[in-house]
Parts: sequence; structure tokens; C-alpha cells
Amino acid sequence: MIQISRKNYDDIPEPLTRPGTFRQIERAIVNMDGEKYNTTYYKDEIVVNKLKAFSVHKDDLNEGDRPKCYYCESYVDHVAVLQVEHFRPKAKVDNIDNNGLPHSGYYWLGLEWSNLLLSCPNCNGKKAKGNRFPLVDSNNRTSAINPIRNPPLSYDRTYCIANQPTLLNEEPLLINPEYEDPTPHLTFDEFGQIYGIGEKGETTVDILKLYRDPLLAARQAKLNSIIEEINLACVARQINRIDDSGLKVWFEKECTKVLELDNVKNEYCLWSRYIIANFESCVVSKIHMYKDELRLAFLQVG
Ligand SMILES: [Zn+2]
Repeated sequence: MIQISRKNYDDIPEPLTRPGTFRQIERAIVNMDGEKYNTTYYKDEIVVNKLKAFSVHKDDLNEGDRPKCYYCESYVDHVAVLQVEHFRPKAKVDNIDNNGLPHSGYYWLGLEWSNLLLSCPNCNGKKAKGNRFPLVDSNNRTSAINPIRNPPLSYDRTYCIANQPTLLNEEPLLINPEYEDPTPHLTFDEFGQIYGIGEKGETTVDILKLYRDPLLAARQAKLNSIIEEINLACVARQINRIDDSGLKVWFEKECTKVLELDNVKNEYCLWSRYIIANFESCVVSKIHMYKDELRLAFLQVG
């Protein structure tokens, strides 16, 4: 998970500003039920394409762009279809609050632009986030409001925007990558397993199941192909297929590949940044020869 920096909460896609949208919100409020939303509004192509573009840090999606899950950073064309996900669950909050009270969900936020993210089914599904939305103190959970002004039919977002004090004061334990940098809350080991730092990081990793095996394997694969090449270079040098300068060129090519992993358009960018910041433990420690040459090559290209 890395910060999604492009979304402007005030630049609302047109489908979410239609009178029909407000009528949907109004109906959810009257029924106190976020299940009743017509999905055609938040699943409108304009809305979805905006969210997809932001996932690769662009304003608009171009051909060839590969959208990522906001949470696990997987490309979705090999995970399944990206889903529009409600950061604050619209229909129900699972794991009833500490005080034992069930929560009806944030039904008034079902079509709120700042509440919509993009997620793969593995992060968003019932086995992961589902309707979970824990807070530091569940007594801080905000009360329902009615943002619909009628007549004329309009939508007062004052208390609905995700970075407004009312909602921030809830202190969610799930990281919202749109308004906060996940970096201080997440770390890895040298094999690509992810760990939360502090209660918020740990809860986020747990809710989204960011430690799941396919993600771990995908992160490992990203690094292993480079380590294999580095080992090949070592063997080539050892049997004199290449000389010292050949080894240097080969190492520098592989070190450049490591640096190029840090690209917001790539999968698992946070993991890539960890590798670069921890080159010694992630890469150097995994080879058995020419460690000094490799360190030097990394310094040269860095
Ligand atoms: Zn995901």
C-alpha cells in the first residue's frame, strides 16, 4: 500500500452529482439501510475509470495502464475485477463495537466520493475487509447524519468528506491510502512478508490479510528474479566467463533493475522501496560471493 495522491475530494465525477444520486442517498437515510443503493451510480464507468487512473497515479487512464488495488497493490487483471469499495462500510459494520452495540453502517456515505476506493476482491471480500471498520475507541463512532437538503434536492457534504474533522476524529484503525501515507505503519522482512507497525498498521494488515500467501509469493518473485541474475553473474565470474569489469557491468545492470522497481505504477511499490532501503539484508545477504563488488555497484547506480 502506498499513498494515492491524485484524488481531489472536491472534483466529484459527474455521476455522483446527479439528482438521482441524491435521491439514492435520501432513500438510504429514510430506510437507514445502505444495502438499497443502486450500484449503477458508484459503478458508473466514469467513476470507476477515475479510481483506476488514480491507482497508477494519473488523472486519466490511458491504454496500457494497469490499475492496481489501493490496498495490496496487485494488478487486478490477474487478481480478478477491481471493485469500488466503501472505506466506511455503507450497509453494516461487523465485529460489533466494544460496547456491544451493533452498527448499521455508514448508509449516508454510500455515494460519497471521498468514501470510494478501489480494491481487489481478496482485500475487499468477506474473508478480509468485508464490513470491518474498527476504531481506536468505538465510542467515537460518528452518529448518522442527513446530508440531503430538500427542497431543493441537494447534498451538503460538510460532515461527509473523509478528511473532515468529524470523520477523522473517529480514528479508524484501517489506513486510508488517500489521505495518509501508509509508509510509517507498514514494514517487511527480507523475504517480503509484511508487518504492521503499531496498532493501526497491525490492524490494517490483519483486516486486509496483506500477509496472504499469494501476495507473499508475488513480492518474493519480484526480488528473486534479480537475485538469480546476480548469482548467475557470480558464477560466470568464478569460472572466468567474464572478468572484473564484466562483473561490474552485470551487477550495475541488476542494481539498476532494483532501483527501477520503485515506480508508483508497478505492483508492490512499498515492498520495492523496502528492498532499496534495505539492500544489504534483502539482496547482499542472499549471495555468497562478490558481496563487496555488489555493494559498490549499488552505490554506483544509486
Ligand atoms: Zn487488494
